[in-house]
Parts: sequence; structure tokens; C-alpha cells
Amino acid sequence: MKSKKELAIELQKLKVFEKPKFNLEQYPTNADVAADVLWDILIKQDYDSEKEISVVDLGAGTGILGTGAALLFADKIIFVEKDPEAIKVLKENLACYKGINYEIIEKDIFLTSIPKADFVIMNPPFGTKNENLDTKFLERAFSISDKVYSLHKTSTKEFLKKFCLKRGFQVIEEKDYSFLLHQTMSHHKKRLERVEVSLLVYEKMTTTN
Ligand code: SAH
Repeated sequence: MKSKKELAIELQKLKVFEKPKFNLEQYPTNADVAADVLWDILIKQDYDSEKEISVVDLGAGTGILGTGAALLFADKIIFVEKDPEAIKVLKENLACYKGINYEIIEKDIFLTSIPKADFVIMNPPFGTKNENLDTKFLERAFSISDKVYSLHKTSTKEFLKKFCLKRGFQVIEEKDYSFLLHQTMSHHKKRLERVEVSLLVYEKMTTTN
């Protein structure tokens, strides 16, 4: 098994969006953040080694979260992504590894059926370009799994903790990160920007009052 640092180095090698589409809010998860999130899942789970673990990577983009999950602990990954150009890069990334058991669903997450899974892991659009897309992704994730690991803008954290309660889920863990994003300011100008993001871990409540 890899160490967290080795995983981050491995994930750093993956290709990212060639031309990120800002209307689709295509921001790749930083490799060190992905490794930290996935490592936490690995060490905190009470695994029954006999049981196969399935993961849905919702809005998979170029696949860093699902690929990392496969390298660490998951037996089956289902990538769901609607952008063909992102899928092309995702396939190139997956071709670098032997033995990953995966399925790619090249569809809009709201317009296709997605199999149930042990976990959903996602870095959904933050909803800055498309209002409420973050919460729509969350609701879709809640329909797929009882356990959802999701990255959000830190500023929306308190709102999301209440939002999920009304849908029978509670946040059982949270962790703050700083994300380095390449912001395209115009056709040829680029700059790096730090964005505060938080991982929220949602779990279905067994009893609701
Ligand atoms: N999970 C990746 C990409 C995050 S960016 C990573 O962590 O690096 C969010 C992704 O969601 C983009 O790739 C975008 O194309 C995808 N997306 C946005 N709306 C979608 C929808 N309705 N259905 C499927 N994918 C969608």
C-alpha cells in the first residue's frame, strides 16, 4: 500500500483538463488535497476485507478522485461525467494503470441512472456559474449512497450542514483545505488563485425526528 505522500506524487502525474470549461466549472482537485481526502477515508473505515467497495465519482472530470480511490482501497469505480473532452483525458489517465475495475458513464448526472455505491466521492461544481448546482449534485449523491465525501467552498459549509439535515443526512466530519486554481482572466492571461474549500462527509441518519 502507498503512503499518503506517494499517492499525492502519483496523482500529480495525472493529466488535467486541456481547456477547462468555465461554464461547467471545471476545476481539478489538487493532488495533495485528493491524497489527503482519500487517505482519511482509508484509515477511518472499518473495513471488512471480504467486502467489495464500490465508489461513484460524480462529475469525475479527468478522474483524480476515483483513480486515487482505486489505487488505495476501492474495488470498483463508476465515473460519471458529461463532457467528452474531459472523458478523453480520463481514459488516457486510466490507461496508465492495469487492473482498475471501472465503468465510465458519459452522461449528465441528472439525466441518467447511476448504480448505488458504498461511497460517492466528488468535487462538484461550486455553483458559482450555475446557481445551486452544488446542492443539486448533493441531492443526486444522496440518491446513490448513504455516505458522501464532497468538496465545497468553505463559505457555504454552514448552509450545507443545515441543507443536508432536511434530506435525512448529517455532516459527520469536516476538514478545511486551500485550493490552488488556475484562473483564466482573458484568452491569454492566467493567474493562480487560492480558494478555501472544505471536505464535508455526509452520512444518512438512521432515525429522523
Ligand atoms: N472531479 C474532478 C472534476 C471537478 S470539476 C476533480 O476533482 O478534479 C466538476 C466536473 O463536473 C467537471 O468535469 C464538469 O464537466 C462536471 N459536470 C458539471 N455538470 C455536470 C453534469 N450535470 N453532469 C455530469 N458532469 C457534470
